[in-house]
Amino acid sequence: MTSSLAVPAPVPAPVPDERPHVVIIGAGFGGLEVAKHLGRAAVRVTLLDRENHHLFQPLLYQVATAGLSAVDIASPIRSLVRRHENTSVLLAEVHEVDLLTRTVGIERETLHYDFLVVAAGATTNYFGHDDWSRLAPPMKCLDDALEVRRRVLLAFEEAERELDLDRRHELLSFVVIGGGPTGVELAGAIAELSRRVLARDFRAIDPTVTKITLVEAGDRLLPTFDPRLSTKAVEQLTELGVVSHTNTRVVDIDEHGVTVQGGAHIPAATVVWAAGVRPVPLVAKIDAAHDRAGRIEVLRDLTVPGRPEVFVIGDVACAVGDDGKCLPGLAAVAQQQGRYVARAIRRTLRGQERRPFHYRDKGIMATIGRSRAVAQILGLRLTGYVAWMAWLVVHVLLLIGFRNRVVVVFTWIWSYFTFRRGARLITGLEHPLFAASPAEEREREERGRGGEEREERERVPAAVPGPTAVPARA
Ligand SMILES: Cc1cc2nc3c(=O)[nH]c(=O)nc-3n(C[C@H](O)[C@H](O)[C@H](O)COP(=O)(O)OP(=O)(O)OC[C@H]3O[C@@H](n4cnc5c(N)ncnc54)[C@H](O)[C@@H]3O)c2cc1C
Repeated sequence: MTSSLAVPAPVPAPVPDERPHVVIIGAGFGGLEVAKHLGRAAVRVTLLDRENHHLFQPLLYQVATAGLSAVDIASPIRSLVRRHENTSVLLAEVHEVDLLTRTVGIERETLHYDFLVVAAGATTNYFGHDDWSRLAPPMKCLDDALEVRRRVLLAFEEAERELDLDRRHELLSFVVIGGGPTGVELAGAIAELSRRVLARDFRAIDPTVTKITLVEAGDRLLPTFDPRLSTKAVEQLTELGVVSHTNTRVVDIDEHGVTVQGGAHIPAATVVWAAGVRPVPLVAKIDAAHDRAGRIEVLRDLTVPGRPEVFVIGDVACAVGDDGKCLPGLAAVAQQQGRYVARAIRRTLRGQERRPFHYRDKGIMATIGRSRAVAQILGLRLTGYVAWMAWLVVHVLLLIGFRNRVVVVFTWIWSYFTFRRGARLITGLEHPLFAASPAEEREREERGRGGEEREERERVPAAVPGPTAVPARA
């Protein structure tokens, strides 16, 4: 017979893990690829990210315009690497990296590494005007896209109730700042949302008269594309009713729109910032040479000079390509670099030399609404329907996660045939439509005071106690 007072068996001491420790900062396109390709290597991998999900940023604009839901373009990081027993995922923000002591600082902990991969990505760049972020939200993470969706949909709701025609015009005017792929795609998607999806849903307003303006400081839209495709993009945007201004620098943003260099004011109640990114602040703290854009300059094997154990990849790296320029901030660059780093670590552990990294450019593309796109693939320049089909196929294939692919394909087919968008939800409890008028505020306060007095009275014990005391509700 066993006694309940029996001394518990001693817990065995944890066996020290002798495998080299690879610490990866960031589970975006680059970092996730490193972890996936080290899944069966004789190393211990710690994958750190301040978010619990991997985000497919190329489709953020579809969340912002109610085409897709947030969950369709994001996947939990843990589930993506669950089959790799050598990989631990930590939800943590890295605050510092010390290359001398080979340590990474997270909340309440310091991790020692044998190999470090910095793949922390970019953040929005307001070019010295961070105060504009309140008036012109960015498009970088899920929260940003949901905020843009909220503002866009609310503008139509407010316009429906607005009697003042000037204010109604302002509410039905949108400005997108930045003529790169994100700005072009977003402007096209807002135009489609207003002209096709919302067209018959309102009674007082006509969403088809919505004014969308795309503002670009440079001399053409899509500056990284062939100039002929930039021209095609302008044509396709014009067909959708988007007005684009190039050589136009924004100098001020307020609640009523944007002011551009020269003093012209473009009225708009909703402004979105899609004008630029820069490396996340952590990167500036790393003791290495940075280029003018703040990226870390790396050697051909993507390591920091003098630190063969420290790799920097993706948007935070300035890795020189075959043309002598830093490789662009693209998902494909980060992914290829991630796969290369996993191979380089394996080779190093086997005592083999590392080969230099070469980027294989498979092309770039941007969609401009239904059946409209521009694409530059393997030397071919595509526009219109063909480019759009290519865009659809590539994005579905690149999406991470089987569930996401299936859901996105079905959502797109449904939207194509019905002209509907299922994710037209306005979230966030506080918004101007529901704000009380001063008179209502006063009335609420009065009621509140009355309620407190009532509560006080009800807390006074009854002279004759009853069988049960039911607490009074506020
Ligand atoms: C709206 C938008 C649309 C885009 N469209 C395209 C497109 O169509 N095609 C294309 O090729 N590219 C596109 N890009 C660019 C592409 O998304 C990036 O080039 C790519 O994500 C870079 O990969 P990365 O691994 O360097 O960084 P990311 O994928 O951004 O991942 C970085 C990760 O690091 C984490 N992180 C950051 N700081 C810390 C920290 N201190 N501690 C812990 N974790 C941290 C972040 O949470 C994030 O998960 C787009 C980007 C945006 C914003």
